[in-house]
Order: sequence, then C-alpha cells, then structure tokens
Amino acid sequence: MSTNMEKLLILQERDLKILKLKREARDIPARKAEIEGRLKSHQQAFDEATHNLKSHKTSIQQVEGEIEALNQKILKFREQQLQIKDNTAYKALEKEIFATRQEIRTAEDRELVLMEEMEDLKRVIAEKEKSLKDEQAIVQKDNARLDQRAQDIEAEIHRLESDRQDLTRDIEKPLLSRYERILKHVGDYALVPIEKGACGGCHMNLPPQVIHDTQKGMDVLSCNFCGRILYWAP
Ligand SMILES: [Zn+2]
Repeated sequence: MSTNMEKLLILQERDLKILKLKREARDIPARKAEIEGRLKSHQQAFDEATHNLKSHKTSIQQVEGEIEALNQKILKFREQQLQIKDNTAYKALEKEIFATRQEIRTAEDRELVLMEEMEDLKRVIAEKEKSLKDEQAIVQKDNARLDQRAQDIEAEIHRLESDRQDLTRDIEKPLLSRYERILKHVGDYALVPIEKGACGGCHMNLPPQVIHDTQKGMDVLSCNFCGRILYWAP
C-alpha cells in the first residue's frame, strides 16, 4: 500500500468519527423533545386527576345546597303548621314534610357515595403526583446527561478536526480533494478494500485489471460502479 493511501486511511478513520459524532449531535434535540413529551403526558394525567377532584367537590357542594334547601322547606312547613287550625291541612303538610325528608335522605345517600368516590380520586391524584415527580427527576437527569454529551461531542469534534487538519498537510492535494468529494457524495466510506474481487463499498465485481493495478499500487483507482477509491488489503 502506498503511503498516500495509508495517510488517507488514517484521515478516513478520523472523518468517519467526525461524521458519526455530528449525526449524534444532530439527533440530540429530537431526543430531548421525546423526553419532554414523556413529561408532558405525566403532567396531563396529573392535571386531569386534579380537575376530576375539583368537579367532584363542586358536585358535593351542589348536593349540600340541595339538602340545605330541603331543610329550609321543612322549616317553612313547620311554620305554616303553627298557623293552621284545620286538621286536614295540617296532615297534608305533615305528608309534605315526610316526602321532603325522604328527598333529604336520598340526597344524603348521594353525598355519601360522592364522598367515598372523592377518597378514590384523592388517591389517584397522589399516585399521579408521585409519578409526575419521579418522571421530572428522570427527565432532569436525562436532559443534563444529553447536555453533557452535546458538550463532549463538540469538544471531540474540535479535537478530531484539528487532528485532521494536521493529517491533510501530508496528502497530495488532488488526491485529497478527490477523497473529500467522494466522502461528501457517499456519506460513509470513500476508501474501500477490494474483497474477493469485488468493491468493498458496493460489492460489485471489479475488472481483473483494476484489481491487479490496485494490488501493485500502480495507481489510485476507483470502483467504476460507486466511485469509491479502492485499496488492497492483504
Ligand atoms: Zn463500488
């Protein structure tokens, strides 16, 4: 293998690392958004539970209001009874009072059921609140980890790029720009070994002459299918 090719291979190793790191850095915002989404669904569940309890409390207040009104009704009936001398009318009112008391009992039963349900709702809220808090802690950690990773990536890319700069100084300019053009085009390996008579990049069979010349290091040859630069790796 020519020294040019050896240098290009070292350069390619750095470039592929840079590419991989850049891809990872590019994906970080999406990963953070996904994490935030997870938190959002926990927040929604908690808000929903809180809302349910609130509307339940309103229902209980309504029933209590009804009971209060019914009690007032009974008091009025009693006042009316005090002023009535007629026995039939008095009894009719007594009937009304009895019916109202029944209504109160029904409302009280309803209130009792609502109270019991409220205990369940409170338990649900406590559960949702706990899982929200747990998730918040996890999200905070995940976000901090991703921020740290983004910083590390940036530093690593910086280091690799300056390393790359030094490497390119020793490579012939036309070969370097040929390599860079192919790398940009294929997005992965610009240099590939010949594997069992085929291109190591696209796996198409290569003409014997290309294989021979590459093996002898006579010229820097490209695969005529994918354009990648070929090298001989014994
Ligand atoms: Zn190829």
